[in-house]
Amino acid sequence: MLSPAAPALSAETLRADFPILGRTVYGRPLVYLDNAATTQKPQVVIDRVRRYYEHENANVHRGVHFLSGAATEAYEEARRAAQAFVGAAHAHEIVFTRGTTEAVNLVAYSFGEAFVGAGDEILVTELEHHANIVPWQMLATRTGATVRAIPMDDAGDLVLDGLDRLLTERTRIVAVTHTSNALGTVAPVEVIIEAAHARGIPVLVDAAQGAVHGPLDVRALGCDFLCFSGHKTYGPTGIGVLYGREDWLERMPPFLGGGDMIDTVSLTRGTTFAGLPAKFEAGTPHVAGAVGLHAALEYLGALGMDAVAAAEADVLGYAVARLAAVDGLRLVGTPRRRAGAVSFLLDGVHPYDAGTVLD
Ligand code: PMP
Repeated sequence: MLSPAAPALSAETLRADFPILGRTVYGRPLVYLDNAATTQKPQVVIDRVRRYYEHENANVHRGVHFLSGAATEAYEEARRAAQAFVGAAHAHEIVFTRGTTEAVNLVAYSFGEAFVGAGDEILVTELEHHANIVPWQMLATRTGATVRAIPMDDAGDLVLDGLDRLLTERTRIVAVTHTSNALGTVAPVEVIIEAAHARGIPVLVDAAQGAVHGPLDVRALGCDFLCFSGHKTYGPTGIGVLYGREDWLERMPPFLGGGDMIDTVSLTRGTTFAGLPAKFEAGTPHVAGAVGLHAALEYLGALGMDAVAAAEADVLGYAVARLAAVDGLRLVGTPRRRAGAVSFLLDGVHPYDAGTVLD
């Protein structure tokens, strides 16, 4: 049973918001548990994207005509919504990307170009998604830097005992997940940020999972960069958010070159770049994705991220307790703080077979 201190959110009401949950699969009502990979879309998001294409579609920032103005306004409103969602001080600290992966690559490339050289160190953790490992390894290969990692114990918690030794005078950036997609571990990012900042080292937080399970506040956290994906927060695919503190973004060179990110272009005298955030948004952006993400963030805002966190904690506690009671089932990871994801193994059963049968 769910606890009597029940969340204000009702599963029935929430289900009704998601049209796909009205369909059947194998002749039964759809049960969808793959939200760590991608979330389903509430009707308000689907309607908003459709309304954009039916009424507002045009290219942004470049036309003087009515629709270009409408599309630009919708796009910039989405940026202000993302700013409010993460608690950023300025809208120009929000850069739209294709998702978390592109956001991490942007920082690894651009921050790396300005601040990382041979012999420098980049600190990640053993909890990371590949998206927060590989771009740093690529940076290390380009520059001659080294990637080091904060270890994880059997419970799936980060081991911070050696943090003082892992943060050296050569560490240029720390990149850490907020919440693990595999084990659900909520990492002690506050502690890591404090230790890194004590040495003047900036921290990137991968909030691909963290953004959807509870309130986020980049200024309370004190992180220098934070990123998440629209499609994991009930918004469209192909849109994501990079928050970067103004003073870092100002000092970083552009990532991609092209239209919209330039101030003046000359084939003889070279090019000067636009200010923030345009400097990091080359080419026609995913306007429909941004307005769809805006609708998703409004949807979450109306539910209330504290209410979302409370409801999920309830369901998660229920899931963990019931799974732990299954004969031959071993939970992988028992982290101190957990959100969302649960991993388990069944004795003698290959995970592919278990997944296929459960599907
Ligand atoms: N980081 C984490 C923690 C994730 O869970 C994911 C997606 N599974 C990513 C990064 C990458 O996100 P995307 O594929 O949307 O770029």
